[in-house]
Amino acid sequence: MCYRYTMPAYIAQSYPNPARLTREFFPACLRYNGIIWTICTLEKQPMKLSSRAHDLFAAFQQSGCPVCRLTNDSIHHYLFSLTYEFVNKPPTHEAIRAARGLCNSHGWHVIEQFNNTALGIAVLYEGLIRNMLKDMGSVKPGDGRRQLSKAAGALAARAECPACTHQATTEDHILRNLLDHMDQDEFAAGFRVSAGLCLPHLRQALERPGQQAAKAVLVAAQQDIWDRLRADLAEYIRKNDHRFNTTEEMGPEGDSPRRAIDGMSGMKGIR
Ligand SMILES: [Zn+2]
Ligand SMILES: [Zn+2]
Repeated sequence: MCYRYTMPAYIAQSYPNPARLTREFFPACLRYNGIIWTICTLEKQPMKLSSRAHDLFAAFQQSGCPVCRLTNDSIHHYLFSLTYEFVNKPPTHEAIRAARGLCNSHGWHVIEQFNNTALGIAVLYEGLIRNMLKDMGSVKPGDGRRQLSKAAGALAARAECPACTHQATTEDHILRNLLDHMDQDEFAAGFRVSAGLCLPHLRQALERPGQQAAKAVLVAAQQDIWDRLRADLAEYIRKNDHRFNTTEEMGPEGDSPRRAIDGMSGMKGIR
């Protein structure tokens, strides 16, 4: 009987270089599925994915930590809704006042990434500053400890930045879905050829309760991903080492320093 294995597009795209495919993907299959002809003769079962897992699977094919990417997208939409769609809703004003404004990262996200929410920011922050001044009470030169203490107390946030709360909930939901689907071979293989989780999100995934089997699959795949990244960094160093007097052009390792920062610190703005 003759079997034909069609490589999924996400794997083919990740390995435009056939030599790298042989070096990295097939050994990964060997370690993951036992022997190579097993995966070549497997009848492909359709994956059963939640909508979040479907988004994750798509994010595996893009650069950077897939959890960072989806979390960033979600925060982006949340902040847009907060400062545009829901800007006149009392709960939005209460959340911004209680948090004493958005945190540094989410505040600058709004300013730098939206063109049409300046009026929303003006409305929310006018209310915030007006209420904060009222809570502080009027302080005059020469006032004593009681007035200063009241003013200082009013500066403290009574709640977390609402976008940080949204972020924590989103990250947990994405990580739960990631682990929930690691028992599906195609999903796990997609993760294995992705950029992997950043260090903060891997820690967060392992801190979740239970799901030991899924965590083991995740960590094993992540170790392979970091092995590849480390090899790319070593190659990058070698090609920049003047002792070798190399004239070789940079290959896929060319962006490995950026991928290393992304992998250890997470995507820009995520923390
Ligand atoms: Zn991440
Ligand atoms: Zn925040």
